[in-house]
Amino acid sequence: MACRTAGRFGEEVAILAVSKRHPAERIEALHALGQTAFGENYVQEALDKIGRLRHLPIEWHYIGPLQSNKTREAAGHFHWVQTVDRAKIAKRLSDQRPAELPPLNVCVQVNIDREPQKHGVMPEEAEQLARLCAGLPRLRLRGLMCIPRIGSGDHDPSISYRRMADLFRDLKSGGLEMDTLSMGMSADLEAAVTNGSTMVRIGTDLLGPRPVSED
Ligand SMILES: *Cc1c(COP(=O)(O)O)cnc(C)c1O
Repeated sequence: MACRTAGRFGEEVAILAVSKRHPAERIEALHALGQTAFGENYVQEALDKIGRLRHLPIEWHYIGPLQSNKTREAAGHFHWVQTVDRAKIAKRLSDQRPAELPPLNVCVQVNIDREPQKHGVMPEEAEQLARLCAGLPRLRLRGLMCIPRIGSGDHDPSISYRRMADLFRDLKSGGLEMDTLSMGMSADLEAAVTNGSTMVRIGTDLLGPRPVSED
């Protein structure tokens, strides 16, 4: 629908179902309807679900902040890590990716609106980190990811999305091979698709409100 509105009819926009805090049974049910890619934000919670659903051919994406003491688990159990935001994390993921698995797909997370509390590299630092990822033996650079500033009366997320699309295009024309621009969530997926997203990350609109965590 968003593709049609955006005049991107027929182009591929992948849907990542964001299943944080939802139980494994919900993931299994959505998988049965044809959804194959799922995103999780907390390593421990995700490992539990990945273990329980290992009979299903699910593609698991890590989309939460990643601390260096969790890189081994992330490298061992996910197909993608979308939140690489520093060299140390990239190197550890490459070093710790098990030899029997294909290279880990990664995106560089960009703090596109320069928000102090947000993770991600500043836009001008994205190229350096992307080049590092592209050169690491056990990583496969796939693209860029962002979580823009929440839309409000004085901020239109389309502006952030346009800046991401420009950055993505510039890095590609500078020789970096990338196919994924991961941006857009339930609230603003239309704006993201209009502005060049190739992967939207949808939680609430697919799975309903998240259960309140027990801790
Ligand atoms: C939770 C989350 C989403 C999904 O958010 P919804 O508003 O429920 O669609 C997408 N991306 C990231 C990084 C998230 O943490």
